[in-house]
Amino acid sequence: MYLNLKQIKENLGVNSLLTNEGANPKVAKNEKLGVLGAVLHLAPHTLSGYQTCPMSSAGCRASCLMTAGNPAYLKNKTEARIKRTKAFFENREAFMNMLVLELAGHVASSKRQNYDPSIRLNGTSDIRWESVRFNLYQWVAERIKYSGNCQKVTVFDIFPDCQFYDYTKLHNRKKVPSNYHLTFSMNETNQKFAEKQPLNVAVVFAGKLPETYLGRSVIDGDEHDYRPADPSGIVVGLKAKGKGRVDDTGFVIQL
Ligand code: SF4
Repeated sequence: MYLNLKQIKENLGVNSLLTNEGANPKVAKNEKLGVLGAVLHLAPHTLSGYQTCPMSSAGCRASCLMTAGNPAYLKNKTEARIKRTKAFFENREAFMNMLVLELAGHVASSKRQNYDPSIRLNGTSDIRWESVRFNLYQWVAERIKYSGNCQKVTVFDIFPDCQFYDYTKLHNRKKVPSNYHLTFSMNETNQKFAEKQPLNVAVVFAGKLPETYLGRSVIDGDEHDYRPADPSGIVVGLKAKGKGRVDDTGFVIQL
């Protein structure tokens, strides 16, 4: 058990877990909805030596957002994500307690600025966070003024007023907490699950977005990233970016 945040950081070898609000341009667009977002970026698929995207496909890996952004910073970003991912798998309890401290900081900072806080934990991974249970250190509970149960809790228990959301390719995440919104993410291998999804379905298109797809209305998912604000029963249309523009795997839909 670690006695303070400095000890945790030194032991994990990571300085921070969440990307600051506003640093991710698409998440920054959520501010117009009165929402301030923060994102956790881990290393996708098996890049760290640990599997974080069990239902990824060749197409989504090739177009993964992991490769988006300024190439000059990519090496440092990738190294930081690999370190975080190793910390998550190798020192789960310390990682989760550090995450709770950062989440509490994000919630407080959002409220100070009159925004609603939101969090994406799977910025570049696909982990079942609803199943990640850990023991909250007593000093962390005191610092964030949390007086609930500290044994085998999830982040959703600790921050019931914070809206979490993610995209997922795991088609069987049926029981998620009420403050965790999921959008199913279609790739070239999971279309049969997309067709019968109760969740909204995100689809990447090569050109102009169609009006309907899979028998559902298509909305422009690039206007903002705050998926909990979407109506139910729709397709979230995303335009191909970066390496997705040259996709030939079937991941990006060409109409
Ligand atoms: S599942 Fe998502 S995060 Fe994982 S490789 Fe595919 S696009 Fe990237």
